[in-house]
Amino acid sequence: MKILKQGNKGEEAETLEMICKDLGDCRRCRLHKGRKHIVFGAGNPQARLVLVGEGPGYEEDVHGLPFVGQAGQLLTKILKAIHLRREDVYIGNIIKCRPPGNRNPEPEEIAACLPFLQRQIRAIRPRLICALGTFAAQTLLQSHTPISRLRGHFHTYEDIPLLPTYHPAFLLRNPTKKRDVWEDMQKLQEAYEQG
Ligand code: URA
Repeated sequence: MKILKQGNKGEEAETLEMICKDLGDCRRCRLHKGRKHIVFGAGNPQARLVLVGEGPGYEEDVHGLPFVGQAGQLLTKILKAIHLRREDVYIGNIIKCRPPGNRNPEPEEIAACLPFLQRQIRAIRPRLICALGTFAAQTLLQSHTPISRLRGHFHTYEDIPLLPTYHPAFLLRNPTKKRDVWEDMQKLQEAYEQG
């Protein structure tokens, strides 16, 4: 028999499998038309740390996995620097299908997709969240504050400490920001090791 985690009020909590099944061959927004694969999210279902990006790019769409392109390789290195492997954490995105030409997601697309990520986070119940870049940070925190001001401080998402930092793709274009991300990662590591 499957052991289900208890939800807050004693009801059976959802598992990632249940959420993935409910997502199915999603056609809730128009992004399904151009996608090759849905990028549901990947990693440890019991992760203490969830990282959230924006949405799939070309490589992620091809492989159906988050952060497997150039930015993903940098993310893997960043995690390694704080002694974490990708298998230790869970990685998801605000939206699960690649927008045409990597344009920014539209509000209807976010509205259709975000509830699934929210359910995934509830299922995993991580101790920490790291929001990668403006889009993930502003969406999860329902804020318009620029990432340059949000980053480096812990905020709260559904009672979970959330640390925004710059997106690895932004770092590839702006290597001088690596120092800021390194400072953020040290804060994340300290909190991770405390919990
Ligand atoms: N950028 C993102 O925000 N997410 C991915 O999965 C890949 C690149």
